[in-house]
Amino acid sequence: MLTLTSLGGAGTVTGSKHLLTYGDTNLLVDCGLFQGLKNLRELNWQRLSTDPRTIDGVVLTHAHLDHSGYLPRLALDGFAGSIVATRATRDVAELLLLDSAWLQEKDAEFANRKGYSKHHPALPLYTVEDAERVMKQFQPVALHQPIALPGGAQLRFRRAGHILGAATAQIDVGGQRIVFSGDLGRYDDPVLHDPESVPAADYVVIESTYGNRRHDRSDPVAALGEIITRTVRRGGTVVVPAFAVGRAQSLIHDLWLLRQRGGLANVPVFLDSPMATSATELLQKYHDEHKLPSAAFEAAFSAVTYVRDVEESKALSANRYPKVIISASGMATGGRVLHHIAAFASDHRNTLLFSGYQAMGTRGRKLLEGARDVKIHGSWVPVHAEVAELPMLSAHADSDELLRWLGGFDKPPRRLFIVHGEPEASEALRERVQRELGWQASVVLQGERYAL
Ligand SMILES: [Zn+2]
Repeated sequence: MLTLTSLGGAGTVTGSKHLLTYGDTNLLVDCGLFQGLKNLRELNWQRLSTDPRTIDGVVLTHAHLDHSGYLPRLALDGFAGSIVATRATRDVAELLLLDSAWLQEKDAEFANRKGYSKHHPALPLYTVEDAERVMKQFQPVALHQPIALPGGAQLRFRRAGHILGAATAQIDVGGQRIVFSGDLGRYDDPVLHDPESVPAADYVVIESTYGNRRHDRSDPVAALGEIITRTVRRGGTVVVPAFAVGRAQSLIHDLWLLRQRGGLANVPVFLDSPMATSATELLQKYHDEHKLPSAAFEAAFSAVTYVRDVEESKALSANRYPKVIISASGMATGGRVLHHIAAFASDHRNTLLFSGYQAMGTRGRKLLEGARDVKIHGSWVPVHAEVAELPMLSAHADSDELLRWLGGFDKPPRRLFIVHGEPEASEALRERVQRELGWQASVVLQGERYAL
């Protein structure tokens, strides 16, 4: 019997972990961290309902931490199988997992020094050493090739268009085919190829981050230009919290297009994220996996000043001349962007610009919802800066694009499972799919076992 159980990433956009069980084989599709709300983050510390020692393999759709960030912990708790991922995903995951481990170590250290953790001593969820160790379990594979999985199943990855390396996963087992969308990207993105359609499946598991939204179709470069222009006219700085892998590079490309059109004048652009800088290098390494010709790549990425060390980063916070700062993390949950928000949020001349999805409970979400102050490193910072959002710069398909991808199947699957969305987004997608496609669709409940 084949069953599907979501251990995370159902009813929320983080913690993706979808367990397929067939015969005595347990296969996990994605292994993400819970992020955002405290009660969600605490789930990272709970034992998985399936003993990691009994998990035979992991298929990783892409490297974002909400899909990969629990892997070192899974291995620490006894998972000894292979992690199958595209080559680019393996490389991106190495950057993200090592950084995540380093941040966890630093947070535990900070909590111990300040004595605010209820655990004595506070421990990291995993260490850099744990993250380095789990990298040895990766089995990098090519797109489109049939790959053998434990228990006689077979895997085929196709492009998902979401970030470098991101793929949809088609899994064939016991005569049934189940397709996982992972996170789907945009169509006609200037950097990444379109999500590839999948011809047939018995079951489809789809994300629904923007299941209840349509992105503004107006020109994102022009919209970006308007925000920068009005901020600079006020003598202000634009701070852009951006996911280090994916959005940071797309933004740099958009800013370069803006400069070509004469819309950026002499405003300097800084990329203050060593990880985003490394991710940019990976984009160069995997030049077949994106659309930028190398001349455009060189031109776009050399028009930016890269900030490597912390001293330079602090100097940038202190510098009051108009500029654009792109820095991580994308939801303002950590990283260097916090110093910049602390430095720039209290002045009405500046702008905090969000471009990606802001999960519930994150500082990014609170700012977008109009918070008048935010707590950063233990102190409250008043917010007088303009807070703006350009969701059309997001790396996630909107509901029209999710429907477009579903339209690629030759015939309706027996059932569509909807995951990776806040409840209202998942429910809106379910209603739309039933109304427009007439498919049988269900919003997946965490922990519920579905027989396929
Ligand atoms: Zn993602």
